[in-house]
Amino acid sequence: MSDYMLSKEYFIKVIEDLIALVEERGAYYTELDSAIGDGDHGINLEIGFREVNKHLDEWKGLNVRDFYNNVGKALLDKVGGSSGPLYGSFFMKFGLPIKAKGPEEGATFAEFIDMMDKGVAIIQKRGKSTTGEKTMLDTFIPALETMKAEYAAGTPAKEAMEKAVDAGKAGLESTRNIVATKGRAMRLGERAIGHLDPGAASAAEFLEVFYKDMP
Ligand code: ADP
Ligand code: MG
Repeated sequence: MSDYMLSKEYFIKVIEDLIALVEERGAYYTELDSAIGDGDHGINLEIGFREVNKHLDEWKGLNVRDFYNNVGKALLDKVGGSSGPLYGSFFMKFGLPIKAKGPEEGATFAEFIDMMDKGVAIIQKRGKSTTGEKTMLDTFIPALETMKAEYAAGTPAKEAMEKAVDAGKAGLESTRNIVATKGRAMRLGERAIGHLDPGAASAAEFLEVFYKDMP
């Protein structure tokens, strides 16, 4: 497993597929946000990923770190709302652990976990949030913990990621039964019960793209 590699092409494909996912699922994310927020989560992501799409060809020659830094910056600069800065920071930090590499290099699965770790940590830091608050972290944190635990147990990378995606989906499902203590849904109090968190939903589907594109 130590020679399991995620290529630069993988990291580019993930962004191409996220652009397509947001076009396909944006309306659903917006519908979820209409129930407990202000009905713009999908719209926000569409604005951000359309901006990324405009620059994709020009960025493909960059190394993975700079490529993801640009993706994150585009989301941060173009998207209003909380998800733009949070996802923007996630992608900006995501590339950092592979900074020492050349323009065509990818990452090992251990490095990939480190990348996810850095991305999730900045969401926690910027959002001043953690699990149980009805946010995207209810997806990201259990997924990350599962990734780490499975890797430590010697589970092959793709299988470890599959389990991480399942843990993220269970986390998403858990947002249905909690009151929000972060984000706009906070204002609803108990009325948010019964509804999935939109950011947790997009995060679960984003992770699924990272999984499906893995070799
Ligand atoms: P806004 O809430 O500004 O309209 P979006 O609708 O695009 O932005 O995104 C809402 C999502 O952002 C929420 O569903 C939640 O998952 C996430 N979110 C909001 N605030 C926080 C926070 N402090 N920490 C983590 N995630 C958050
Ligand atoms: Mg919103």
